Amino acid sequence: MRRIDLHAHTTASDGSLTPTQLVRLAAETGLAALSVTDHDTIDGLAEAQAAATEVGIELVSGIELAVTYPTGRFHMLGYLFDPLNQALNDRLDLLKQNRARRNQRMLERIRAAGIDLTLEEVRRESGGGQVGRPHMALALVRKGIVTSAQEAFDRYLADGAAAHVPKDKITPEEGIDLIHGAGGLASIAHPHSLRLKDLELVEALTRMRGIGVDGIECYYSEYDSDRTQVFLAAANSVGLLPTGGSDFHGDSKPNVKLGIVGSGQAVNYEVLRALKAARDSRQLGG
Ligand code: AMP
Ligand code: ZN
Ligand code: FE
Ligand code: FE
Repeated sequence: MRRIDLHAHTTASDGSLTPTQLVRLAAETGLAALSVTDHDTIDGLAEAQAAATEVGIELVSGIELAVTYPTGRFHMLGYLFDPLNQALNDRLDLLKQNRARRNQRMLERIRAAGIDLTLEEVRRESGGGQVGRPHMALALVRKGIVTSAQEAFDRYLADGAAAHVPKDKITPEEGIDLIHGAGGLASIAHPHSLRLKDLELVEALTRMRGIGVDGIECYYSEYDSDRTQVFLAAANSVGLLPTGGSDFHGDSKPNVKLGIVGSGQAVNYEVLRALKAARDSRQLGG
C-alpha cells in the first residue's frame, strides 16, 4: 500500500523541522504524499513544494485553521487549495497582524502586573515561527517569575486570566469559504477536541456537512482502531470523507512519528485519491 500523512507541522508554525527537513523525512520514511498543515499559516508551503519536487514526493497544500466552536477546540484542515489565492493570503495576513497586536497588548498587561517582559524575550522562545502564549509562558519560566508554563497560564495567560487578551478567530463558515474559494476541501481535525458527546456526534457532523465541511480526520496518531471506526462510521453516515494524519511536530511532540497513526498503522493513498476526486467534481460544478 502507498502510505501518506495529511497532517504535519513545520517551523512556519510550532513544528521543529523546517519545511525542507520535514519533506526529506517524509521521503526517507517512504511516504508517497505529505500535507504540510501549519497553524493559521501557509508560509511553509513554497519551500515544502520545492523540496518535494527535488525528492520526488507529492506535496498536498494544507493548513490547520483554528476556528470558533462553542464546546471545544475546532481545528479545520484545508487541503488541495491554491496557495496563491489572494483572498486566502489576505485573510491569513490579517490574522498575523492581529496576533502581533494581541501579543503587544498582552505584554502591556504583563508589565502592568509589574513584570518586565519584552517581545524580544518572548520571540527567543519560538523557533522562528508564530509567537503566542506558549512562548510567553516559557519566557516567564526562564525569568523565574513562575516555576512552570502551566503556572504562567494559570496566573497570567489562560483565557480570562490577568494578562489575557482574546484572539481574533475566524468562524467555521468563514474558514470553509476561504478554503473552498481557493479551490480546496475542508476537514475537521482531531474531532475528539470538539468535545462532543457520543449521542451528539452524528447530529453535529450533519450540521457541519450542511455548512460545507467536506471531511473528518478519522485516522490520527492518538486514535486506536475502535475510535477510528467510530469516526469512520459517523463520516460514512453523514457523507463526510475520511482524512488522516499524524499531527507530527518533531521535537515539540516527541511521541508522534511522521506517517504513523493509531498503534503503528498508516494512512492509505486511497484517502487522498478520494479527496482529489471530490475536489475535481466540485470544480466541475458537481
Ligand atoms: P495562542 O494561539 O497564543 O492563544 O496560544 C494557544 C496555545 O496556548 C494552545 O495551543 C495551548 O498550547 C496553550 N494554552 C492555551 N490555554 C492554555 C491553558 N489554560 N493551559 C495551558 N496551555 C494553554
Ligand atoms: Zn501545533
Ligand atoms: Fe490541531
Ligand atoms: Fe496539528
